Amino acid sequence: MNKNSRRRFLRQTVTAATGLALAPGLVSCGAGNTATASSSAPARAPEKGRKLNVALLGLGSYAKGQIAPSLQFTRHCQLAGIITGSPEKIPEWQAKHDIPDENVYSYDNMDELADNPNIDVVYVITPTATHKEFAVRAAKAGKHVWCEKPMAMTVEDSQAIIDACNENNVRLSIGYRMLHEPNTQDFIALSKEKAFGAFTAATSLAGYAGSDPPTDYWRGQRAMGGGALYDMGVYTVNGLRYGLQMAPVAVVKAMQHRPTEVDVTTEYTLEFPGGLLAEGKTSVVTNYNQLRIEGENGWHEMQPMQPYGGVKGLTSAGTVLGPPIDGKQQTLQMDDDALAIMNNTPVLAPGEMGRDDIAVIRAIIESAETGKRVVL
Ligand code: NAD
Repeated sequence: MNKNSRRRFLRQTVTAATGLALAPGLVSCGAGNTATASSSAPARAPEKGRKLNVALLGLGSYAKGQIAPSLQFTRHCQLAGIITGSPEKIPEWQAKHDIPDENVYSYDNMDELADNPNIDVVYVITPTATHKEFAVRAAKAGKHVWCEKPMAMTVEDSQAIIDACNENNVRLSIGYRMLHEPNTQDFIALSKEKAFGAFTAATSLAGYAGSDPPTDYWRGQRAMGGGALYDMGVYTVNGLRYGLQMAPVAVVKAMQHRPTEVDVTTEYTLEFPGGLLAEGKTSVVTNYNQLRIEGENGWHEMQPMQPYGGVKGLTSAGTVLGPPIDGKQQTLQMDDDALAIMNNTPVLAPGEMGRDDIAVIRAIIESAETGKRVVL
């Protein structure tokens, strides 16, 4: 099979999967949030053919720099509302995105979204420790929930979001943009077919050369979800999940470097079924970005593995997964998630996947603090 036909094949395989339907390891992590697990269609299923109306909750750097611009290119959803605790931001957002007064909310009155049929989805893009409260309130208002990664601070908070969405019959997706990135999808297809034989080892690295996060900003505050492990480490954990197509069974060991109350670097070893060991490393002060899966007969890797654009893949057979794509991953993500709502099909990044990654994050912290192996 030449490179182009293989690439087409990979694309078709992934597309045909409609989410995680062909990924047994991942399905088991996310079955509760799929359409098949829902007892009925969403309470407010939109009319076929129209775009879903999305309200962004939290107008910080990711909402402004990535999500709002990406929504200008989506085909199945559009920016229609804002929910903010910063009234001074409202005029600029309303003018730039043509948002009517009736679709502007504060954190105090966002529960009134329940009376607004013109908003379908609330996308929670605030500091991690606030995700639970905002996501649960959005679900209780009858709105589908898109929640940024990392999903929440704890497994319990993550489960509370899942429960609220189930109880209110709305859909939930986590903002794992890499799962919607075409080169990553090709990489996942190779993992699914074990293209290089049984897995023997894995490495997952995600870091950037920033500076220690300031302690007066949420990224420098432990209770708010700051630090490298929650922010960047969740990509390494999720990467191992899709790279190996299975969930880890234990944290063997972990080490965190915490110059202040949050970690700037965390290293860990995960054990997977069959005794397979995977090394993970994440940092907000050092650059590295690679997901590599070793098999009995070769390897496949992505390097870099999680930038906004330019993900590159390579295999030991010389196959290039690419070319690097500069387009907006977030556009693909939101269109995929909108279609999953409209068609009542599984989402690529269900709440259960987000929750299970938080369980691994918590176990890594526990292992670093106790020096012990932590079973998942
Ligand atoms: P940010 O600090 O730039 O913005 C956070 C926003 O939340 C601000 O507008 C702030 O006013 C608001 N906010 C609401 N409640 C708050 C509170 N209690 N304390 C402080 N701020 C509060 O952060 P960001 O970079 O936009 O990150 C927001 C979320 O998006 C985080 O969960 C982060 O992990 C996630 N994120 C995801 C990606 C990705 O690639 N998927 C990239 C960046 C950030």
